[in-house]
Amino acid sequence: MSSPASPASPDTALTVPDLADATELSCDVLVIGGGTAGTMAALTAAERGANVLLLEKAHVRHSGALAMGMDGVNNAVVPGRAEPDDYVAEITRANDGLVDQSTVRQTATRGFAMVQRLESYGVKFEKDEHGEYAVRQVHRSGSYVLPMPEGKDVKKVLYRQLRRREMRERIRIENRVMPVRVLTHPEDGRAVGAAGFNTRTGEFVVVRAGAVILATGPCGRLGLPASGYLYGTYENPTNAGDGYAMAYHAGAALTGIECFQINPLIKDYNGPACAYVANPFGGYQVNRHGERFVESDYWSGQMMAEFAAELASDRAPVYLKLSHLPEETIDAVESILHTTERPTRGTFHEGRGHDYRTHDIEMHISEIGLCGGHSASGVRVDAHARTTVPRLYAAGDLASVPHNYMIGAFVFGDLAGEDAARYRAYEGELDREQIAAAHELVYRPLRHPEGPPQPQVEYKLRRFVNDYVAPPKTGAKLSLAVEAFDRMATEIAGMGARTAHELMRCAEVSFIRDCAEMAARASLARTESRWGLYHERLDHPERDDTGWLHHLDLRKSPSGTMEFTARPVEPYLVPVPEFDPPGGLERHLGEVALVPVATAGPRDAAPAARPATDVPDPVGRAVPAPAVPAAEAPHPRLLRLLSLVEDSPDLDALAPYLDDADPAVRAAAVTALGETAPAGTGPALAARLRDGSPLVRAAASAALRELVEVLPAGPELGAGLREALAVPDAAVRSAALDVLRALRLGDAALYAGVLDDTAVEVRVQAVRALVSVDAVAELSAAAADPAREVRVAVARGLAAVRRPEPEPLGPLLDDSDPLVRGAALAALAGTGCPPGWSARAEDALGDPAWQVRAGAATALGAVAADLAVPPLAKALDDPNADVRKAAVLSLLVYRADPSARTALAGASADPDADVRAYAARAAR
Ligand SMILES: Cc1cc2nc3c(=O)[nH]c(=O)nc-3n(C[C@H](O)[C@H](O)[C@H](O)COP(=O)(O)OP(=O)(O)OC[C@H]3O[C@@H](n4cnc5c(N)ncnc54)[C@H](O)[C@@H]3O)c2cc1C
Repeated sequence: MSSPASPASPDTALTVPDLADATELSCDVLVIGGGTAGTMAALTAAERGANVLLLEKAHVRHSGALAMGMDGVNNAVVPGRAEPDDYVAEITRANDGLVDQSTVRQTATRGFAMVQRLESYGVKFEKDEHGEYAVRQVHRSGSYVLPMPEGKDVKKVLYRQLRRREMRERIRIENRVMPVRVLTHPEDGRAVGAAGFNTRTGEFVVVRAGAVILATGPCGRLGLPASGYLYGTYENPTNAGDGYAMAYHAGAALTGIECFQINPLIKDYNGPACAYVANPFGGYQVNRHGERFVESDYWSGQMMAEFAAELASDRAPVYLKLSHLPEETIDAVESILHTTERPTRGTFHEGRGHDYRTHDIEMHISEIGLCGGHSASGVRVDAHARTTVPRLYAAGDLASVPHNYMIGAFVFGDLAGEDAARYRAYEGELDREQIAAAHELVYRPLRHPEGPPQPQVEYKLRRFVNDYVAPPKTGAKLSLAVEAFDRMATEIAGMGARTAHELMRCAEVSFIRDCAEMAARASLARTESRWGLYHERLDHPERDDTGWLHHLDLRKSPSGTMEFTARPVEPYLVPVPEFDPPGGLERHLGEVALVPVATAGPRDAAPAARPATDVPDPVGRAVPAPAVPAAEAPHPRLLRLLSLVEDSPDLDALAPYLDDADPAVRAAAVTALGETAPAGTGPALAARLRDGSPLVRAAASAALRELVEVLPAGPELGAGLREALAVPDAAVRSAALDVLRALRLGDAALYAGVLDDTAVEVRVQAVRALVSVDAVAELSAAAADPAREVRVAVARGLAAVRRPEPEPLGPLLDDSDPLVRGAALAALAGTGCPPGWSARAEDALGDPAWQVRAGAATALGAVAADLAVPPLAKALDDPNADVRKAAVLSLLVYRADPSARTALAGASADPDADVRAYAARAAR
């Protein structure tokens, strides 16, 4: 875009640009927000022939939730592992009956094709040794979690896709451009464009479009985190509710806004708790007595209610418990949580002197936010991502498709892109008044630069959110909230700014205020309690399915007020016995009435806002800037390389950098290869596995693992990887084996040859590789390995080959290490436990090590009921909760047997919540 007349540095004072100087852009499909949903919407619309403009207020390469690291697909319906209808029913239950199942079904039925599409782009999903998706069961019913070992790279992969030549011809990306209003046609109200500004130069931008897709993510900056930091939110803090405000002012309906997002997290650290990662490894949440307390399933407000109740009780604080796990398991959890999910997480624990081995990790709950993807608060959409405004779409966390998470954001981005691609650019006049109003919204802080600064006003606004809107809610508190937010509209209009960056922050505060008002009014309107903690009304404590099994829609009336409609739930596509939506007609509720609150004063004479300078403001206080060390001159060849990468170079163009004398340049060139993946990448990377510099070798190992889904499995690559098995760097040998296995480029003889490697991690990789080729004899030979990790891997591997047999497990059942014996016993559940061996399993229930007893209880799930049920029933008295849980899970196999049912009925009063909840499943 052209440079503006006013100064362009983000730190220099701007002047208000003239409306007539606006930069005008035009496109068929305008996508606002280049995160998960937005990138997919742009790709699909372009593939369908539309000219796309993608506007992102940050930079598409790094922006949005994905760039913060994903550890897995939360909700994959993988054929053979889960059924779409079961998923639809599950989400209906999780959302207390209030869903438009046609939208949820889209995610259920299209999610797997999306996983495969992402895989074709190079995104890695965890697979077992045979190349099958390694879906995990995290919830008590259904297996939907598909781990992503390289989840930190998803955004990089998508960016590579957007930069492909064919896509670049159709998709124009403008980074640092932030729309603030959707423009609508003055007569028919359809979306025809947007107005915004450049967050670096301050230039005003007006776009004409045939259709507009909002993909701006959740409102993550609504409540104030317990740390008090404005940007220390659970969600990506650039997602300030922009799209909610834009949709509202464009006249679209929003729905379920009162169903807030609240998540468990690590106390004082703004990262998720990662139960999805820790739980499949054996981690869990406990109170200070070490008792599990979560009874309901993971993805519900009920679970958050249990969490909040525990925190408020004498049993608090609560912890993520990993300290009972063996060293190698903790290593594996750390390698995911401290790299994929958040690299700062390890540093945080280290700073406190805490370690998962010695300390359970204190947990807390997050601030409130709005988010369709994690709960249900969003812009109302149909099964094609259409909002109620013609040609305006919403996708991702912004759209109200409950518990849609990442894969749902991709699916709805795709649906929006497909539908919107029908429209060509709008060529009529744009409404001057709407443009002028957007211009005023953006630039008004420049007119009074001395006005209260954004951090101060935002802190105050969000403190009111915590005080009055966060659950438990009451009519009185919510009414006070509405008054506070009305009052703050004037204060927000008076905020001061001098730079383009500050203008962005001020506009965001106006969006947060809009969202806060919607959250308070919608919570007032729904006069019942629903979704556990998400909408807990102390003054209406019961769920009221007769009056309120209805969506609550919110929209801006023609006169500019916020008004509500109770909309019947659409007839279910998949019946769920617990809910029977009454149907009937919509109830127009109009504006919501405030509860009179004595201290609030009469409504028409609200007390004047206190001068902003009186507000205690720990965030806004001037802090002396840290001394910045003088920057070293950037390496000129590195700079040339970085600019080359933007043009998707071929291998020849990168070759001089790959051979550069400086290892830093070679490593950067290897990373560039990983980002752009031109023809010949695989062999070039394999060659760099033998580089003399550890930096370059590590970059090559990482890039090979990252690209494994898109590298052609040719002989040259195979030869390069085999050569790398002789490199004296164990991490390289381990990576080479991993890629050889995944690309099916090795055989049993090759892998068996590595079983005497000096490094344990390499031998574990060799075991995985042997499993992938079903080499049982070679695997059995590894059962005598000196390292426990290898022997545990062998035990699991013997159950994971295609035709598993119990006999090879024999020596491992007598192993001197209890973890190996435990793993071997558990493996019997997969191989089958021969009649003669059930007595060994029964004996093992008396082993001093709980891991052996838990393995034995699992093994007993694979013998005849008459042999298994009596010892399993006895194991329900075991002092260790994990042994009791394993016994319950095995007893569930025999639930047709009356004595198993009796035992399970007893276990439904177990002191451990997990044991209770699984035992209760016998009754279903
Ligand atoms: C910490 C965390 C961990 C998660 N882990 C998982 C997981 O492991 N598995 C899983 O399935 N899901 C996970 N999720 C959920 C998943 O990441 C989200 O559901 C999904 O990424 C949402 O996609 P989105 O496109 O709606 O938002 P985002 O990907 O965040 O994109 C929104 C984009 O819009 C831009 N934007 C905002 N306002 C404007 C504006 N006015 N103009 C221009 N651009 C704008 C933002 O900068 C951003 O790039 C996680 C979420 C978080 C926060």
